[in-house]
Amino acid sequence: MKRFKFFLALSILVTMVWYSCKQDLYLPEPSKTEDQEILDFLTAQGIDLNDVEILDSFVVYQDDAGWDKAALLRNIREGADPVYELPAYPDSAVSDRQRGIPNANLLDAVAINRVNNLKYYIRGSVQSDCGAGWVTAIGEAMNAWNTGITNSRVHFTQTMILSQADIIVGSDNDMRMPSDRRNLPSNVVARAGFPDDEEGRPYKYVSINDAYSGWSSKMKTIMHEVGHCLGYRHTGTLDGQHIPGTPSQDEHSIMNTGDNMAPYFTAGDQTAVRRYYPLNMGPTPPTIVSATNVGNGVARIKYSNPLAATNPYSWVLVQKFTTSGVFIESKYFLSDYPDGNGVFTLYWYNNIPGQTYKFRIAGLNFRRDASTNYSGYVTVGL
Ligand SMILES: [Zn+2]
Repeated sequence: MKRFKFFLALSILVTMVWYSCKQDLYLPEPSKTEDQEILDFLTAQGIDLNDVEILDSFVVYQDDAGWDKAALLRNIREGADPVYELPAYPDSAVSDRQRGIPNANLLDAVAINRVNNLKYYIRGSVQSDCGAGWVTAIGEAMNAWNTGITNSRVHFTQTMILSQADIIVGSDNDMRMPSDRRNLPSNVVARAGFPDDEEGRPYKYVSINDAYSGWSSKMKTIMHEVGHCLGYRHTGTLDGQHIPGTPSQDEHSIMNTGDNMAPYFTAGDQTAVRRYYPLNMGPTPPTIVSATNVGNGVARIKYSNPLAATNPYSWVLVQKFTTSGVFIESKYFLSDYPDGNGVFTLYWYNNIPGQTYKFRIAGLNFRRDASTNYSGYVTVGL
């Protein structure tokens, strides 16, 4: 018996040593590579993988845009879609409409308290490699973003101090640009990326292909790339989400991928920018048009935006109270498509039939970091 125990102990010891050696020799394989994780995520987003190329630290999308790989992985692993009521309007029809940040990922937009004070830095390589025409075009493009859209909060100034730059523009031949923002393919004039930063910064780099010193559309190209840095996708594709309030056809949109060379923001571009980056959301609140009991504990609230042309809402926040004014709950609703009279409709489900409630609402931009004041209260018995 004693001898048996000895052999048992010995065999356990040998087994443990063998396993530990084995673990040293054969490291466990990762269950999924980072690249595969990214490809699976993008596939689940409905993205055509023919449009995707994974580099060392950057994921190219549709040639001239993409994501920082580390930020995208963080988003995949930690990101959660915000909770809101009412699914987005069906968005499958092919159209030219402006495309914004997909899946209402609010934090992929630039923070409202940054977007009015963005600084860009032009590397010397732009002039030396790409030509002075590009330097001029960058200034003109930034000025167009500053002045070409009414009621927009987006504002750029040039900085000569690299460490202060929100956006760095450089030649794709510049060794000081991140390695995989360099050496653009011959068919790509310039490349930027999408914002994906917890602090709400824009995407940081715009690379210009130094083979395009004679390019005839420099200003529009920079306007377009800056649009990516602020979160906008390609108009006229199915990437991202349709931005409500933009037209169904807009071939001259600054974010169109076609051969539009005109350096002007269309009315649709302007609406897209106001929804994300309004100059000033407040204080005028939405107007509640009606609140109705539609049965089974469902309240229908109709509202309008008195400043729809200048301050379109991406969301409304609805607060629910008891009749004596005790707060119960709040919910976000997409503010997508008004009727022909500019009236929006939302439904608050799962109230208690027989109860009477008070509601009030406020309008918000896409990132929900700018808001109107609250409307007055409306009372509805259910
Ligand atoms: Zn683009």
